[in-house]
Amino acid sequence: MTISEFRQYAKKWSKGQDPVKLLFPLDRLRLLPANKKRKTHAVDYRSFVDSEGHWNIYPIAIDNYHVYIVCPFCQKIHIHGNNKGHYEGPRCPHCFPVQANSYNILDISDTLKRKEENSMTLNKLKTRAKAHDLFIRKDGKGGYLLTDFLNRLMAPGPMTLEEVEMWLDDLDEHQQ
Ligand SMILES: [Zn+2]
Repeated sequence: MTISEFRQYAKKWSKGQDPVKLLFPLDRLRLLPANKKRKTHAVDYRSFVDSEGHWNIYPIAIDNYHVYIVCPFCQKIHIHGNNKGHYEGPRCPHCFPVQANSYNILDISDTLKRKEENSMTLNKLKTRAKAHDLFIRKDGKGGYLLTDFLNRLMAPGPMTLEEVEMWLDDLDEHQQ
């Protein structure tokens, strides 16, 4: 169904014995077309392609028997089975005439865990960078930059936190 249809659907089924529970504010999806009131397509920014080329997707809503996701292929809402809260795992999108690569539905509690882990790692790395008079700055697009106090790049950026860590490992080694 389209995102507009899903909005109606979620509203209709928000009460009762098996309510549809929203897990993500629908307005935080990218809704298309941007210039029309009736939105037909959606993009979930949380979705990402892993190193094996598979899409990984977080649910936007669940009820006792279903999980609802934004399909990265057709940008519509797909419904998959939810076995008493166990909805994670690889699923086949049903929108393509040719079998598309399956996508993987992730447990939403993982996002919160990952955010927490990331901020802990970032704080540790900031302390390590400081020992070299360096700073770690966010580039605003999910990447990290290693700079000096004049904001000059000290390593090719943007990097992932793992890459920043490798640079710091090298710098530490150099100093010993
Ligand atoms: Zn689809």
